[in-house]
Amino acid sequence: MANERSLSFRKKQISIRSIPQLEDVTAVKTSFNRHLHQTVVKDRHVATKRDFYITLAHTVRDQMVTRWMRTQQKYYDVDPKRVYYISMEFLIGRSLMNAMVNLGIDTNCEEALYQLGLELEELQEIEEDAGLGNGGLGRLAACFMDSMATLELPAYGYGMRYEYGIFTQKIIDGCQVEIPDEWLRFGNPWEIPRPEYCIPIHYYGRTEIDGWVGTQVVMAMAYDYPVPGFKNGTVNTMRLWSAKSPNSFDLSYFNHGDYIKAVLDRNLAENISRVLYPNDNMMEGKELRLKQEYFLCSASLQDIVRRYKVFKERSGGKKRDSFKEFPDKVAIQLNDTHPALSIPELMRIFLDNEKLDWEDAWDICVRTFAYTNHTLLPEALERWPVAMLERILPRHLQIIYEINSRHLKAVGLRWPSDVDRLRGLSIVEEEPEKRINMAHLAIIGSHSVNGVAAIHSELLKTSIFKLFYEMTPDKFQNKTNGITPRRWLRHCNPALADVISERIGEDWVVKLDELKKLLKLSEDEKFIAAVYKVKQENKDKFAEHLEEKYGVKINPKSMFDCQVKRIHEYKRQLLNCLHIITLYNRMKSNPGKSYVPRTVLIGGKAAPGYHAAKLIIQLINCVAKVVNNDPDINDNLKVIFLENYRVSYAEKVIPASDLSEQISTAGTEASGTGNMKFMANGALTIGTLDGANVEMREEMGPENIFIFGMNVKEVQELKSSGTYNPRQYYEANEELKLAIDQIRNGYYSPNQPSLFHSIVDHLLSHDTYCLMKDYESYIECQEKVSQAFLNRRQWLSMCIKNIAAVGKFSSDRTIMEYCDDIWKSTRVPVPKDT
Ligand SMILES: *Cc1c(COP(=O)(O)O)cnc(C)c1O
Repeated sequence: MANERSLSFRKKQISIRSIPQLEDVTAVKTSFNRHLHQTVVKDRHVATKRDFYITLAHTVRDQMVTRWMRTQQKYYDVDPKRVYYISMEFLIGRSLMNAMVNLGIDTNCEEALYQLGLELEELQEIEEDAGLGNGGLGRLAACFMDSMATLELPAYGYGMRYEYGIFTQKIIDGCQVEIPDEWLRFGNPWEIPRPEYCIPIHYYGRTEIDGWVGTQVVMAMAYDYPVPGFKNGTVNTMRLWSAKSPNSFDLSYFNHGDYIKAVLDRNLAENISRVLYPNDNMMEGKELRLKQEYFLCSASLQDIVRRYKVFKERSGGKKRDSFKEFPDKVAIQLNDTHPALSIPELMRIFLDNEKLDWEDAWDICVRTFAYTNHTLLPEALERWPVAMLERILPRHLQIIYEINSRHLKAVGLRWPSDVDRLRGLSIVEEEPEKRINMAHLAIIGSHSVNGVAAIHSELLKTSIFKLFYEMTPDKFQNKTNGITPRRWLRHCNPALADVISERIGEDWVVKLDELKKLLKLSEDEKFIAAVYKVKQENKDKFAEHLEEKYGVKINPKSMFDCQVKRIHEYKRQLLNCLHIITLYNRMKSNPGKSYVPRTVLIGGKAAPGYHAAKLIIQLINCVAKVVNNDPDINDNLKVIFLENYRVSYAEKVIPASDLSEQISTAGTEASGTGNMKFMANGALTIGTLDGANVEMREEMGPENIFIFGMNVKEVQELKSSGTYNPRQYYEANEELKLAIDQIRNGYYSPNQPSLFHSIVDHLLSHDTYCLMKDYESYIECQEKVSQAFLNRRQWLSMCIKNIAAVGKFSSDRTIMEYCDDIWKSTRVPVPKDT
């Protein structure tokens, strides 16, 4: 560690956000030095970079804990209606900078570290991402936690503390290799273990008249994470559950004297929270996954009921003995069907433990739960085999059957002898195997069902949930997704945030609609120049990173064309790849012509068992190798596959992007949230009329986005006509034919010429996601993008109009709508002063 620098503040321009306060900077330094000695137990001569990161994390955490305890005490005193967000995934990323930004201490901390001879940017990089999710669904849960705290809602997140989060992706010889994510290896300063909150979770056993008996028990231990609101007094709790073996785990071994085996087998129980299932938009019917889902539901619901019951009236410690007001005190949001077992679990608690009768218990349940659907893709919809449920959760299966029988009785009364409707509305599916449809259970057990973008919510009502919509139309709503402006603009792009705040103040951070004020600056030369300067600096810095990490020389003035998201056929990274190949072939056949230089960046993880997706990664890397090493191409085209895309990588690449690729087949992407992050950071979008792209276009105006391809209606008509012949498009378009033939001939994989045959065969036969049909429109649209990029001033003006129109896509707006239309909960402000 360098010697302590003088107290004089740096020459480097300090942002207008706040000037470091001498007393506060001194206080940070004092706290930092105390934690280095007392918490990390090192002195500055032997401390490593990681020691300094841990020290800083504790220094920042100290600023949060008083507010945290005060917030929880306040909720106890006020006893408001609490909101519980239950999710199998919370894709949080890093916590250090988020905490500093929300506490409003980032400039003071940066200055204090500088004076101590340390670089904040360097220490930040040491923190491991909390990768407790796959993609959009998990990131949404994390953005919602930030918004709920910022909006001062009495809210809790409930999730799983996976020992291994989403795998680390390595690219070796162009292929994805999965490495276990040991994110807890060096400890985690952002969690508080609560061994005193251990809850028994039951599995197996059998049902008898007096309930569920002969079960095996695993304990759920709570780890609490603080969730600070932006510059307010609120610090909410996210409670993640970890599996612990009970003391009595399988007593029979102890009885038989096999003490060693009994101790070793304790690991079996603790496997439940060992690892996150790495499938995005794909159900894998594994027994361990079912156990995980129930583990989350049971631990959370027991905890929620406990908290409801321990409320003491102001007059003195009387326990709440009635559940009549439960729906007035508790709102539970189910993030997809993954936590839908919460419904039969709450019924079990009410019936078996609290001795409520069925009608009362069911009425309370339905008024408590609300369900968010995240996808229409059939392979993603959860259907658990009855045989598996019967073994692992026999009591819940019994309750589900009773729910279904009462539900179908009501259907029969309303639509007598309509057997097709009965079958379509049943929770139990008979073909091809007896299974429980979890979406049907979630709809029946909830008072609200919502999609995550307008187009998606409409499709739910006309397609998969049509019969349910006809039965209970008032249950169905839309809640268009959003992103938190704190992480996705203020934190990840501080220079752009400053340029904005200099003109319109800082209120936009909590009122994103304020960005509309930038519209009148979209032709302001000084503002345009300032936005350009920020973007170019972000690109220069990212180009340096690309050269260093991937060894490819980048033209920092080229268009940074970026597609980062999970790799999935419906997201059509392959269509992007066909565009790259087309550009390459044009440059090869016409080397004299001038081109608009592009750097194409593609990143994302494929599920380890998803062969088609992994092959697409390999193809992109093969194409990149040919393109990047071809001397004819110069710096007109470079292609890089970004390794190990995750939240902290998104925070770097998005602010450096010019073009955002949102090119899913219309009708397949429920919302998307990556699209919104790019829009907020001054990138233009090329996309289909799918998910939230539709609403983005409405907000910014169609002249400020590049839309191509079929719309939902056209896709439906093409599909249902049964006449789609992808080969016809291949035959009709020379450039498409050349690209496909090259892939098939091994032009990009000379050592394994048949490597990509399966890709081509699928494109020319089924082409499930209509790449062949949309290709021409996509290529034409990309040509328009290139032409637009040539006119820098015009391009930047469009970028500013994008930023000015992003207000709707704040997760604060989303959460306010959930609150008004579904939860009916109100703010509980907590004073900030200590
Ligand atoms: C926002 C985000 C996503 C979701 O991206 P989409 O383009 O909406 O699929 C996935 N992964 C990470 C790390 C993200 O930050």
